Amino acid sequence: MLIVQKYGGTSVGDIERIRAVARKVKRVCDEGHQVVLVVSAMSGETDKLIGLAEELSNHIEGREMDLLLSSGERISAALMAMAISELGVKSMSFTGRQVGIVTNDAHTKARIEKVSANRLKKALAEGAVPVVTGFQGISVTGKDVTTFGRGGSDLTAVAIAASLKAALCEIYTDVDGVYTTDPNMVTEARKLDRVSYEEMLEFSSLGAKVLQSMAVEYAKKYNVPLVVRSSFSDAPGTLIVKEDEDMEKVVVSGVAYDKNQSKITIIGVPDRPGIASKLFGTVAAANIVVDMIVQNISHATGATDISFTVARTESKKAMKLADSLAKDLDAVGTDLREDISKVSIVGVGMKSHSGVAALMFETLAKHGVNIMMISTSEIKVSCVIEKKFTELAVRALHNAFGLEGKKKPAKKKTAKKKAKAKRG
Ligand code: ADP
Ligand code: ASP
Ligand code: MG
Repeated sequence: MLIVQKYGGTSVGDIERIRAVARKVKRVCDEGHQVVLVVSAMSGETDKLIGLAEELSNHIEGREMDLLLSSGERISAALMAMAISELGVKSMSFTGRQVGIVTNDAHTKARIEKVSANRLKKALAEGAVPVVTGFQGISVTGKDVTTFGRGGSDLTAVAIAASLKAALCEIYTDVDGVYTTDPNMVTEARKLDRVSYEEMLEFSSLGAKVLQSMAVEYAKKYNVPLVVRSSFSDAPGTLIVKEDEDMEKVVVSGVAYDKNQSKITIIGVPDRPGIASKLFGTVAAANIVVDMIVQNISHATGATDISFTVARTESKKAMKLADSLAKDLDAVGTDLREDISKVSIVGVGMKSHSGVAALMFETLAKHGVNIMMISTSEIKVSCVIEKKFTELAVRALHNAFGLEGKKKPAKKKTAKKKAKAKRG
């Protein structure tokens, strides 16, 4: 069968790890399967490149940034192909452009428009293991290198799996599956055997970086069978599948958080038709994605405060627009808060249960966490809170919704141990 395997930054973090992946790939090939690999940049590499660019300038062109960032994945793809070849298995590395991944022109957050994958098919037919650079393609009009945003190698893997109609797309990472919350934050988090595309999409867009949200969206659209598993163990991982009746029974299946958030407020905007349309039309035209929106009308002044959240990486750009709009609209002023985060609870079962949001608010209140903004959908509730309370809130919610793994029953002490305990 044809399998697409994606290895994240930690999994290709040094030469020894690259060698370990190569050995794993050889084993899969020896079992008679065909494999296409997608690799991320070595861990820390993308951050390092961003740091270098930011040292130079604080208004970097997306086009230049994309060429820079794409280099991280090129290094690991070439090294991986070399490591596989060293084991006597034919392997060839390819960039996104070389395998026909065509995107729109939105630099640093491009969306895939087409994947032709002809060269991949040719390489597979020649018995080679193709290794593709994650997270990049080529723009349809400019023919320039584009990237898909942080975590975008997951999208490359899913898009290639869809294009080749692969039997499976495996995402290998540093945790052994999708958990009820980030296992690196909450040790009691429980691994989920199966998650629906819908739930995973919510999880990912709400900050659970274990899978990139565009990748889940793509997998859902093209029905790509997806599994998240560990590079470092043979544990079975988490399957991302279509929703079924069993899943409905779980009201809340997990807690997500996103610390990469900023809140912008335009204070004292005149309360008249067309203001929100002008504000968010301008923000959208600048290609900035707005998440939550809250508008409060003051009955005393007749003016409104409009608050909205954007990714922190976009806050400077969004603030510039907000400042100039505030002037145009005769508003009192603007305010930017970067010390916020968003915590969310997710579960398809929420559709048919009441009281879920109330328990969330009660839990946060009990822990002294103030809620600044709220947004809900059929299967999630999100609250914006002060960033310093993120961990407290995530733990409290995880506990309040009973998501912990079953505690191992305390072993009964044997007579010998009891005697020893008594002796002290
Ligand atoms: P990779 O470099 O392999 O793509 P990422 O860092 O992008 O890995 O994603 C894996 C990380 O996602 C984990 O180390 C974990 O801290 C984080 N994470 C956040 N939420 C979850 C969750 N619900 N389940 C599993 N991991 C999660
Ligand atoms: N290297 C990119 C990042 O760090 C893409 C990825 O790892 O998926 O975001
Ligand atoms: Mg990732």
